[in-house]
Amino acid sequence: MADFDIVQLPARSDNYAVLVHDPASGATASIDAPDAAPIKAELEARGWTLTHILVTHKHLDHVEGIKPLRQAFDVTVIGPQKSAAETGLYDRTVTDGDHLEFAGTEVQVIETPGHTLDHVSYFLPGQKLAFVADTLFALGCGRVFEGTPEMMWESLKKLRALPDETVVYCGHEYTLANAEFAVSVEPDNAALADRAAQIRALRAEDKPTLPTTIKREKETNPFLRADDRGLADALGMAGADPVTVFAEVRGRKDRF
Ligand code: ZN
Ligand code: FE
Repeated sequence: MADFDIVQLPARSDNYAVLVHDPASGATASIDAPDAAPIKAELEARGWTLTHILVTHKHLDHVEGIKPLRQAFDVTVIGPQKSAAETGLYDRTVTDGDHLEFAGTEVQVIETPGHTLDHVSYFLPGQKLAFVADTLFALGCGRVFEGTPEMMWESLKKLRALPDETVVYCGHEYTLANAEFAVSVEPDNAALADRAAQIRALRAEDKPTLPTTIKREKETNPFLRADDRGLADALGMAGADPVTVFAEVRGRKDRF
């Protein structure tokens, strides 16, 4: 099994690009391309050549770096079929259930619409690695811009079903604001309070709070727990169906 080097790279104001490098073959993928400059600088510093860009969705803060990176590298850009015509940026398109190969390793495509209709996540089962961009965040989830709460909840359930130990990379460093919101919803949740304290400490030192894991999110992320009785009780919604609970939590966060 490949042993990848992984670099999580801050870009723009709060985005992350993630570089995945296979030392054996030299292949290097960037998950999304928020901004070409920091990606190029990092590749140069490490002596890596960009070979692939895996695009999660069409938003500018995930694709703006593609064109300049294409000018600098002979790169294959892979992105969701649903935004291929709109963006005109992809060499190869993917849909739900597709299996790609990167450096001899399987990459599964999971459609996770809700934030946008085209959003996909990439899962490497052999490495237990997932790239979920703006669908799932540490203690949060993406704003539902194009889909419906039901669609987003279904997408989050797909990610929740990945193995507990899966290491999850997200599109943004939003964790501190997410933590303050989550604590406001569940002030009596001790596991959440512990995690919020860890997050405040990391951010006070300007350290990243990501990646996270599926297990940690299942335990403390309110958006993955819309079917958890404790959360429904905390909201005064005991007995409500999960989609209704999810929509309520998402709506509260939008107004928080
Ligand atoms: Zn987005
Ligand atoms: Fe984004």
